[in-house]
Amino acid sequence: MAFLETNFQPSKPALSEVIDLDHGDPTMYERYWQQTGDRTTVVIPGWKFISYFSDVRSLCWFLEPEFASSVVRLHKLVGNAATDGRYIVVGTGSTQLFQAALYAVSPPNASEPISVVSAAPFYSVSRLQPTFLLPRFVNSMHDFDVSHTVVDRVVLQSYPQITDFLRSGLYKWAGDARKFKRDAPYIELVTSPNNPDGLSRVAVVNRDRGVLVHDLAYYWPQYTPISSPPADHDIMLFTVSKSTGHAGTRLGWALVKDKETARKMTEFIVLTSIGVSKESQLRAAKILQVISDSHEQRGIFDEGEAFFEHKYHHMARRWKQLRAAVEKSKLFRLPEFPHGKCEFSGRTFALQPAFAWLKCEGDTEDCEAFLRGHKVLTRSGKHFGESTRHVRISMLPRDEVFDQFTERLASITSLPLPSP
Ligand code: PMP
Repeated sequence: MAFLETNFQPSKPALSEVIDLDHGDPTMYERYWQQTGDRTTVVIPGWKFISYFSDVRSLCWFLEPEFASSVVRLHKLVGNAATDGRYIVVGTGSTQLFQAALYAVSPPNASEPISVVSAAPFYSVSRLQPTFLLPRFVNSMHDFDVSHTVVDRVVLQSYPQITDFLRSGLYKWAGDARKFKRDAPYIELVTSPNNPDGLSRVAVVNRDRGVLVHDLAYYWPQYTPISSPPADHDIMLFTVSKSTGHAGTRLGWALVKDKETARKMTEFIVLTSIGVSKESQLRAAKILQVISDSHEQRGIFDEGEAFFEHKYHHMARRWKQLRAAVEKSKLFRLPEFPHGKCEFSGRTFALQPAFAWLKCEGDTEDCEAFLRGHKVLTRSGKHFGESTRHVRISMLPRDEVFDQFTERLASITSLPLPSP
């Protein structure tokens, strides 16, 4: 592969004994971007971005035009979402946009907060915390390599927690969409492909007086076949975190059909942070442009360098490796995924999600605890509204960590002895 050579080495943590696959930190992407070298370097002179404003004629006036055009170009290339006639609202990650969307679509003067639902298992996010503050970690610390405690760990958050943490009078979490029986207005969050189980999702409540918010963070061709026509829901949320891997840039965008909804989402972002970092937007614009270039300028980029091709193969290898480990161990089960034709690549393939939704077989009731006993940190199904027999495992760590994980999983061949 003719990637540019660079002397820069991304920070590589020492391979600790504890393998942390609890949160979906997308460090798998680091090496690809390292290999693009200066093509993705952005230099910002000191005088730039002094103003709060980006384009005062635009409804979302803190949206950098360069970022907006790179978003449109990428969606047109991939064909995963309609952009014509849509408003783009930029946010500090799609986490901020999710809250902006709830604010925008909640009735402002209702007598009670509107219900927010999502079909279980639903998305659970994480908030960084030092490891040693986590109670479950303290309990089990004597088993672990103590040097690991300097690494940041996470405290659980989730759609329910993001929805309810400010005790809003506008909206409130109402749980699993499949169990929602009230004859009242509601907001349904549809995450497709879904986090944690990777499946494609459609709305399940399907009643009058419902508003849908589509979280399409993983609707990219390295994870799932892109179908035709492009998605054209009323509110669609995207993020660089899971498309390009730049979670630290904290940038997301919403494609919104209705002008008033886009205006209110913009208002939310103004009220909470008076806009979104322009440095981040410029950097993300550059990254998205290089992705589009890598597919469109084949004279400059080699075949293997095209971003989505490269990452499709990367995910395919990981899923093969994980399935081989599960097969060897015989103590776990993975979901089988349907095949679909990808209109972007022309390839027919089965989903290869960013998370593995692993089930412990046999008598193991608490899969998270079982794996923790083998020093593999995962997230229990109970945090996603599902059983403790399931765990969610990030498929996006660095190669070294993923290799170490699959080796360890394959070596787990016996269940713990029942306690006397
Ligand atoms: N939605 C889903 C379904 C996610 O999995 C994530 C990241 N874990 C997010 C949103 C949050 O993305 P961001 O980093 O842009 O806030």
